[in-house]
Amino acid sequence: MANIERIRNVAGRVKKERDQGNGVVVVVSAMAGVTNQLVGYVQEISGLHTPESWREYDQVVSSGEQVTSGLLALTLNEMGIPAQSFAGGQIPLKTDNSHGRARIASIESAEIRRALDKDIVVVVAGFQGITPDGRVATLGRGGSDTSAVALAAVLKADRCDIYTDVDGVYTTDPRIVPAARKLAKISYEEMLEMASLGAKVLQTRSVEMAMNHGVVTQVLSSFSDEPGTLLVNEEDIVEQQKVTGIAYSRDEARISLTGIANVPGMSAKLFTPLAEAGINVDMIVQNVTEGDGATDITFTVPRSDADRAIKVVEGLHSQLKYRSLHSDKAVAKVSAVGIGMRSHSGIASQMFQALADKGINIIVITTSEIKVSVLINEEYIELAVRALHSAFGLDKE
Ligand code: ASP
Ligand code: MG
Repeated sequence: MANIERIRNVAGRVKKERDQGNGVVVVVSAMAGVTNQLVGYVQEISGLHTPESWREYDQVVSSGEQVTSGLLALTLNEMGIPAQSFAGGQIPLKTDNSHGRARIASIESAEIRRALDKDIVVVVAGFQGITPDGRVATLGRGGSDTSAVALAAVLKADRCDIYTDVDGVYTTDPRIVPAARKLAKISYEEMLEMASLGAKVLQTRSVEMAMNHGVVTQVLSSFSDEPGTLLVNEEDIVEQQKVTGIAYSRDEARISLTGIANVPGMSAKLFTPLAEAGINVDMIVQNVTEGDGATDITFTVPRSDADRAIKVVEGLHSQLKYRSLHSDKAVAKVSAVGIGMRSHSGIASQMFQALADKGINIIVITTSEIKVSVLINEEYIELAVRALHSAFGLDKE
């Protein structure tokens, strides 16, 4: 939500739904830029090195949603529509204790149902819940998507419409490829891959939740009335493309270790401490070269965690006895995603050829059933996205 004008706009949509006889629960996010500003205030004061500081982080950054929820309820009331706002803790939407990236434990729906029964529009502050200790917790950036889908699942809503500042899910980022096309439908699984691979349309967890609970979810623009993108089951996509979309992420860093003894337990010794440090390792490649029998391991982490990861690895030198440690923060990942890969072969080779034709060097490759990802030099990321988008026939005519 951007500003007061957009709040009025949302109120208008709520009215339309209500006029059609629908009960409406609205989950709001903060107004544009507000959460970033709040995070900025916190970071000016604290390096966020303690659990207590994250607790206060949540107290501060959750406030943006609370403001919008009250303003939207007020706007509706002014229009003669009965509405009531709820903070996460007032529902209550219960979370675990992981401040800053809490997971939803349960949602009490009685209070909301009571309001709906009285024909009151329920306005919920997204992105937040309450911990077992009774503190406010936030669900991680973009978390209001997850609040919305979770509420839709609990209330068994007919539909969950997510209004964003893009008007749907595109074959790739339209800012990089103007010929990108809006998808009328995308399967949950593809959306999950696209979201976790860097497409910033929906929070990854919201997609996971929509998929697991079969929530009919639609991504729409808050600015226009055009149809958006519907998330559906794989079977509901009639004509499967080989590749549905190209995702990319600049938030990558590479760490490589050479000359690790090729004996059982080395990878566990490396990755367990990284996991314990809360570092999310993404791509992993291990390779044994003939000869001295030593192995090389390369992996990637979010760029923001790179320095911490390197520290952890340096601390493991006495155990792992690696020969050398290299890192590179100027890398990026580009991925081709599509359920069509299950039935078509040659997608990976076509991808490598398209990159080769542009002279782009591939550093790491990983694949799953429905995606191929490659790590490349960050400098070439836009070129790579464009090349792959047209190589897989995704450009709009
Ligand atoms: N306001 C929060 C954020 O910016 C949650 C959301 O927008 O979904 O991350
Ligand atoms: Mg969002």
